[in-house]
Amino acid sequence: MSIEADLHIHTRASDGDLSPSDVVSRAISKGLKAIAITDHDTMSGVKEALKAAQHARIKVIPGVEISVEFEPGEFHMLGYFPFIPDGMEDILEKGQQESRARRNPKIIDRLNNLGMDITMEEVKEVAGSAQLGRPHIAQVLLSKGYVRSMREAFDRFLAKGRPAYVNREKLPPARAIELITSHGGIAVLAHPFTLELDDSDLRDYVKGLSKKGLKGIETYYPEHTKGQVELYRNIARENGLVTTGGSDFHGKSKNQISIGDAGISMNILEQIFNLWEIAAAEVSS
Ligand SMILES: [Zn+2]
Ligand SMILES: [Zn+2]
Repeated sequence: MSIEADLHIHTRASDGDLSPSDVVSRAISKGLKAIAITDHDTMSGVKEALKAAQHARIKVIPGVEISVEFEPGEFHMLGYFPFIPDGMEDILEKGQQESRARRNPKIIDRLNNLGMDITMEEVKEVAGSAQLGRPHIAQVLLSKGYVRSMREAFDRFLAKGRPAYVNREKLPPARAIELITSHGGIAVLAHPFTLELDDSDLRDYVKGLSKKGLKGIETYYPEHTKGQVELYRNIARENGLVTTGGSDFHGKSKNQISIGDAGISMNILEQIFNLWEIAAAEVSS
């Protein structure tokens, strides 16, 4: 299968290095016919990408990659839309802010329990008008002499797996599907191996998600083995899902991966266009 569309790309709107316009130029230079911008929990980069693609021979698909609540592994849900959905960005942003707002006091509590004297007020003072987060907490720890560097604050206390780490609250899978679907998009399970389920559990789990409205499974992905691609194709067939794919390009932070390293043909992309039409018809009927 020739790779004509890369449906998994990050920009500076989340944790990628390139601006949305640079991503579009890069994709054009790779000869791609379509790309999807899928930043983490935001669609704020999509507008610029659409503009950059306006007079070019490339289609930009508005997308998002939502972090979903799941144990033991990590669950990311991709959403693909025929246009920038009304109100979606507000919901995503509000969700992020709320989960951060609830998370920060919990982190401070944990640090207090570990014997460190640090208050929310002190952190707020450091953050000023910026979005308050872990770097500001680290700064207070540093200024109070509990650590000798920001790095140490993360390594000892704040990083994942450390004693003051608190998980960000995430949407339950069914809610993420509903959020995407109710805004005219189609929901796709990203890089299924990160769920850390064995093959038969994954089969059952995806079957359940399909009943809740999941429409696709990301099958073509740089880290997927031949065996995994085969498995995901079978699971897609069993549940009537589209097999999507993409590079998960981030830029320098994932150095070895380029735009177009994984993806799908336009034939498969057509299936997504069909699903959009079906979804639109369902909404208007
Ligand atoms: Zn992901
Ligand atoms: Zn990603």
